[in-house]
Amino acid sequence: MAPGARDSRAGDDSNGRLYVVATPIGNLGDLSPRAREVLGAVAVVAAEDTRVSGRMLARFEIRAELISYHDANEAARSVKLLERLKAGDDVALISDAGTPCISDPGYRLVKTAADAGVEVITVPGPSAVIALLSVSGLPTDRFSFAGFLPPRSAARRKALRGLGGAGGGEAARTVVVYESPRRILGLLEDVAAELGDPQVAAGRELTKMHEEVLRGRASEVRAELAARDSIKGEFVVAIHIEEEPSEQMDNETLKAAVAAALARGETVRDIAAALKDQGIPRRRIYSIARELDRS
Ligand code: SAM
Repeated sequence: MAPGARDSRAGDDSNGRLYVVATPIGNLGDLSPRAREVLGAVAVVAAEDTRVSGRMLARFEIRAELISYHDANEAARSVKLLERLKAGDDVALISDAGTPCISDPGYRLVKTAADAGVEVITVPGPSAVIALLSVSGLPTDRFSFAGFLPPRSAARRKALRGLGGAGGGEAARTVVVYESPRRILGLLEDVAAELGDPQVAAGRELTKMHEEVLRGRASEVRAELAARDSIKGEFVVAIHIEEEPSEQMDNETLKAAVAAALARGETVRDIAAALKDQGIPRRRIYSIARELDRS
């Protein structure tokens, strides 16, 4: 039997257990001793890509039966794995990197197992979301995770407007998203335009040899990346959404003030900075400036 704490609500004792095991996001030293122990003891490891996981397990001299479990076969595989669990086999679920179910397959198997009364045990460890938040230098008392945003700019901007909130009394929070190196400049451009050029932290290649965290306003981080010959590696981005006070200047008054400042030759950035002192979020000024630009 694989090691792990027993759940006080455990179901049938003759069932195997499902272990959801986090694996490294780059640095193999981050595989925990407990994860190693569990992966070496279970009857079967359900892996997103059996070749990727097979290589990782071989590095730790773990020889396990591997079964592929990915987006395309998860419904059928969940049923098969449940049969194994019901027959008393312990199963470990892993993804290519990080924590299963976090923008990775696994949810369906966890739900199938839990619904069937199988004990589901977490073996926590690396995840790019938490890794970045911990070094972002942004407030983390309230955060959310939005996975990968849509690849096309129009849809991504709409999604960002949704993350920014509809306005009126929304508390400050940090939102984390994943992004590919091909789209990172587009993402940061859209974040700057839609959310009032907020403070961001972009983590690249976390825990790997070329790990770095770029901090600053979205436009500054974008400019820093755009100046490079090439942009490579995996990215995770934290975006700080400022607090939106409920008591605010009404839209028409604000619009007139922004229009007047623009007519005087002030930049949107300066206007937003000045009005922020009055508790008006930068994204609201950017949104009004865009509206004025269109009219
Ligand atoms: N389940 C994983 C986790 O817990 O982090 C995430 C899987 S998701 C399919 C993969 C994405 O996570 C990558 O495209 C990238 O955006 C982000 N990511 C994974 N590893 C990373 C790393 N070492 N540094 C920065 N971002 C990373």
